[in-house]
Amino acid sequence: MNHVSTSGAPVHDAAPTRQWRPGALVCSAAAVHAGAAGAVLAIPGSVGWAVGSVLASHLALVGAGLWPRSTLLGPNLLRLPASAEGCVALTFDDGPDPELTPRVLDMLDAHGVRATFFCIGERAAAHPALVREIVRRGHAVENHSMHHRWHFSLFGPGRIWKDVSAAQQLLTDLTGQAPRFFRAPAGLRNPFLEPVLCKLGLHLATWTRRGFDTRSGDNADRVTQRLTNGLAGRDILLLHDGDAGTDSTGRPHCTTVLPRLLAAIDQAGLRCVTLRAGVAAG
Ligand SMILES: [Zn+2]
Repeated sequence: MNHVSTSGAPVHDAAPTRQWRPGALVCSAAAVHAGAAGAVLAIPGSVGWAVGSVLASHLALVGAGLWPRSTLLGPNLLRLPASAEGCVALTFDDGPDPELTPRVLDMLDAHGVRATFFCIGERAAAHPALVREIVRRGHAVENHSMHHRWHFSLFGPGRIWKDVSAAQQLLTDLTGQAPRFFRAPAGLRNPFLEPVLCKLGLHLATWTRRGFDTRSGDNADRVTQRLTNGLAGRDILLLHDGDAGTDSTGRPHCTTVLPRLLAAIDQAGLRCVTLRAGVAAG
């Protein structure tokens, strides 16, 4: 179904909302809370045990949220589905960047491949033409939060809603296409995120391999190796076109690593697809 964005541009294929179902860890934490409350009422002297159990369940929830590739808090796309065998998804976080993003786009064009850009809302608002250019060249723009706060995983449900929905609205307005995927800042989150994503029709997407390319000092070989060691079909690969780290000569990793990674993908006989195309293949 098509909608009209607040800017008047048509929105194609607006993301359908999803039904939220609490993950296994959230269910067990709720059970621990109920059990502890019941024990305190029914069993004299059980307060210490009850408090300890509740604290342990909270620690487990926090731990799961601080592990980007965890699936304990809900669905988390770590690899493309089996139907996308032979494909990999290149993803770029933290842009758009007026200097780096155009260079990355030119490299992708030169190689004839499509990629996925997890844009930060406030950067997209500062460079709207660049966001439209990403889509014009056949790539996908997805949601990487409005402000990319380092303490995103400490937000309550209201603040998560405000941050993620603001970016969703902005990116939809700019591109005419509703983002389908959300990637949390640094991959860190908490149990309040998944219900928000369901309401917005978004799916959490993390990665299979990342190059740690926001760190400066590593040479391009090391960053490339992290992405290509074990490279296989269905991999979701993470690079950054914003906040990029640099090598010892000051060159941003994404510009030196990307050509090597594309060569490795070719050599392995794999094909680059956007996340949404790779998932739609299922
Ligand atoms: Zn990021």
